[in-house]
Amino acid sequence: MNNIILKKKHVFFLTKTYKTPLWVYNAEIIRQQILKLKKFQIVRFAQKSCSNIHILKIIRKCGAKIDAVSIGEIERALISGFKTYSNDIVFTSDIFEKKSLKKVIKYKIPVNLGSLHMIKQLGEKSPKHPVWIRINPKFGHGHHIKTNTGGENSKHGIWNSIKALKLLKKYNLNLIGLHMHIGSGVDYLHLKKVSQAMIKEAINLNQKINFISAGGGLTIPYHEKEQEVNLNNYYKIWNKAKKKISNFLQCPITLEIEPGRFITAQSGILISKICSIKKNQKKYFVILDSGFNDLLRPVLYGSYHKITVIPGPKHIFHKKYNIDAIISGPLCESGDLFTVTKTGSLITRKFQNIACGDYLIIHDTGAYGASMSSNYNSRPLIPEILYDHKKFKLIRRRQTIQEMLSLENN
Ligand SMILES: *Cc1c(COP(=O)(O)O)cnc(C)c1O
Repeated sequence: MNNIILKKKHVFFLTKTYKTPLWVYNAEIIRQQILKLKKFQIVRFAQKSCSNIHILKIIRKCGAKIDAVSIGEIERALISGFKTYSNDIVFTSDIFEKKSLKKVIKYKIPVNLGSLHMIKQLGEKSPKHPVWIRINPKFGHGHHIKTNTGGENSKHGIWNSIKALKLLKKYNLNLIGLHMHIGSGVDYLHLKKVSQAMIKEAINLNQKINFISAGGGLTIPYHEKEQEVNLNNYYKIWNKAKKKISNFLQCPITLEIEPGRFITAQSGILISKICSIKKNQKKYFVILDSGFNDLLRPVLYGSYHKITVIPGPKHIFHKKYNIDAIISGPLCESGDLFTVTKTGSLITRKFQNIACGDYLIIHDTGAYGASMSSNYNSRPLIPEILYDHKKFKLIRRRQTIQEMLSLENN
């Protein structure tokens, strides 16, 4: 997929210009992914998956709307050109912090309410505010326990929607939509279950609303063995639910989806350098200059990412290896790994002819990559580069150590 930017000369150009490690995104893939979703009336990008404002601008120009889960994400959306006093931004959360509450009221940003407490907080200050309720469907699903967002083990959403409705009425809030998000990773059986739960809730509440949202969770084939989501199937299930609800409530309903990873995951790669290849007893370790401070998914979820190698320019001087190796980062922490199973055990990858100085490309990292990075081990945030119209553009420069320390200067 990322062939265009994977040519050796491009990798050499990028690593020479910006050094490693670095993120690269291909804008065209983002556009293609959004186009695949055009049947859905509203595509709302879950920006937590990839929040660089240059990416958000591309997404806005494709006609998508946006989800924000913090005041920082509201600011990002505004800077990227999404509008206030409109349906462009929806604020989704299980809590209000003082500042975010103030902001959504000031700009009349619709709120997707995740708790009864939020209803009270918003209702007291902003009657008639347009709101959604995020309903916990009482069961969940996710590619990992940590991404399961439904059921009693999930903190998300409102358990008792009738109670919520009573409170909404008490505070005179304007209910415009119902939302459910059970987690990430689509499975059709679960999808059917969610859409049926949505129908049941809509009928039970019996309120004229404008929108229903199927949430996010559309997966992408991280592994070669995995298949693309059948979007037609997904659409059919939800369109049917929409029609049923619309018929029952006797009002038109707009169907939204709220994907994150589906839109950006495949557009991004992480380019790092092999700094060391070492053998501890019988195990080989390939050690990169990028760790879980940059890409957290393998450590957090045991996620699989495809990994390829581009031979470095000084190959001839280094010893070459044909090995099965564990891939690790530079952090002072033994859990700093890229090859982990879902249950946390170590696995290896096969390498042919690799050497120190080679570039390692970690694929499909455009979602929950840069946006989840940290400064752990006091390593500065790494640059993000956008490939668009056959050109590379720096869309976030490397953080300097000075900048990192500046917050502590007093
Ligand atoms: C994270 C999240 C999404 C996006 O999930 P993906 O798996 O990236 O599609 C959508 N909606 C809500 C409420 C979320 O929390």
